[in-house]
Amino acid sequence: MFLGAPGAGKGTQAEIVCEKYSIPTISTGALLREAMAEGTELGKAAKSYIEAGNLVPDSVVIGIIDERLKKDDCKGGFILDGFPRTVPQAEALDAMGVEMDLVISIEVPDEKIIARMSGRRLCKDCGTSYHLIYNPTKEEGKCDKCGGELYIRKDDAPEVVKSRLEVYHTQTEPLKDYYEAKGKLVIVEGQEKVEDTTALTLAAIEKSRG
Ligand code: AMP
Repeated sequence: MFLGAPGAGKGTQAEIVCEKYSIPTISTGALLREAMAEGTELGKAAKSYIEAGNLVPDSVVIGIIDERLKKDDCKGGFILDGFPRTVPQAEALDAMGVEMDLVISIEVPDEKIIARMSGRRLCKDCGTSYHLIYNPTKEEGKCDKCGGELYIRKDDAPEVVKSRLEVYHTQTEPLKDYYEAKGKLVIVEGQEKVEDTTALTLAAIEKSRG
């Protein structure tokens, strides 16, 4: 599981790690954005929370995760990115009988996050995330993986990022104590370069696997 503030790089690391270990990444943020793009009832209900930088209600995201983790591709393991984000969500995961092997918290100071977010870009088609400076595409404006067009998330606007950081500190950060108490937490300091953070992340994973 990856914990971390918005823009700390957890989605990017999750994508890299899931390819290396051939397991799926389950990202509630990506699932909600997909639902929004498709205009489903779920997407419509989530839109106002997401665009204001607030959390979608626990019952909604817990339902999404419960359904997603039942799929066959999760049988050999999976990575959680962006779930849980509150203590009740973590408790719901425990109640489902889902136990994490390792919880990696990627830590980046708020000032750096605010500066970084303005360069973040996402693929409209496959959702892969990039950064203009730290993780650029080979061809400007086009996804390396599928050639899709890149876009800027509405909730990456500076005012929204500030409220997302506040939400992170008040509602999500207590999860560090929650998983520390279970002996599962490892802190990884987010580095300037994606590959440097990846090296620290992979070292933490290998260490936990013995
Ligand atoms: P992310 O892509 O992980 O940054 O998620 C984008 C937005 O989706 C968040 O700012 C929340 O509004 C919503 N969201 C994603 N995951 C959760 C979650 N576990 N609990 C509540 N809201 C979530």
